[in-house]
Amino acid sequence: DDTLNPLPDPTERDVESTLRPKDLAEFVGQPKVREQLELVLHGALRRGAPPDHVLLSGPPGLGKTSLAMIIAAELGASLRITSGPALERAGDLAAMLSNLVEGDVLFIDEIHRMARPAEEMLYLAMEDFRVDVVVGKGPGATSIPLDIAPFTLVGATTRSGALTGPLRDRFGFTGHMEFYRPDELELIIRRSAGILGVDLREDGAREIAGRSRGTPRIANRLLRRVRDFAEVRADGAVTREVARAALAVYDVDELGLDRLDRAVLGALVRSFGGGPVGVSTLAVAVGEEPTTVEEVCEPYLVRAGMLARTPRGRVATASAWLHLGLQPPAKAPG
Ligand code: ADP
Repeated sequence: DDTLNPLPDPTERDVESTLRPKDLAEFVGQPKVREQLELVLHGALRRGAPPDHVLLSGPPGLGKTSLAMIIAAELGASLRITSGPALERAGDLAAMLSNLVEGDVLFIDEIHRMARPAEEMLYLAMEDFRVDVVVGKGPGATSIPLDIAPFTLVGATTRSGALTGPLRDRFGFTGHMEFYRPDELELIIRRSAGILGVDLREDGAREIAGRSRGTPRIANRLLRRVRDFAEVRADGAVTREVARAALAVYDVDELGLDRLDRAVLGALVRSFGGGPVGVSTLAVAVGEEPTTVEEVCEPYLVRAGMLARTPRGRVATASAWLHLGLQPPAKAPG
């Protein structure tokens, strides 16, 4: 069950797009990133030139794609969307770049997963609005320089540490997205309920917000699951009691931890005595990819104070032991 998986789900694309904030004013939370971006965008608009390239970094589901759309809207520009894994060959990127119109915003999601040749092409494009297209093969190959329209790149990454130095240096501005506070998630859920026509009560909103893993995508998803429950098993109103009963059906615990979160903590505590243990070993123990454990699962466990990353490996905190109903050993960090 993927109720709490913060990654995008293709079957939700339509509902996600109806729930997306359309401008900076509708975008809840992230006050720091919002203020910084506002300055970057308005500065560029005053000068009548495209703004610096923007890198947005942070865990999945926190609003990076939404912000890219808002950036384009604020600039009155059109948005082209692609992703790192889709740019396998440099030719794919060259085609994309040469079709850009002056002022366009190009959004590259998961930019840290771009293949090396494409990445090297991007350096020149970002810096000089130029690409070198290689024609032919072997000793007869020639490289033809091609001008491209001035554009703004918006890159999104769940791992800014995985970006190469030269790529990172070419972004004039990096926005670090943080997990949302419960009161911010409450605002997001209430707005979504208004759009979807859900009879959401105040205590119901608070209950869902507290279990959304600090992530708007999950908050919106839980709202829809709770609405189903409210309509099928109750009178349609989403109250605290209804939210609690519905979330119990979906195995969402009091802290909003999901199956994988609990599996990671469970393995850490039961198989490795609370750690320290390396992330790859931990990933094998729960049958997941190390990148999933590292990028999807760990950031929230760290933020929730359940897991600590140390130079020697991952360590369960005393709260993690207690959350699993176990007595923490004396060595467990607070
Ligand atoms: P990311 O690209 O970081 O994975 P998205 O931008 O796709 O995240 O956001 C996922 C969903 O969460 C969107 O459909 C949107 O409805 C909601 N969302 C994200 N950030 C916000 C926000 N700040 N305010 C309101 N809704 C948000």
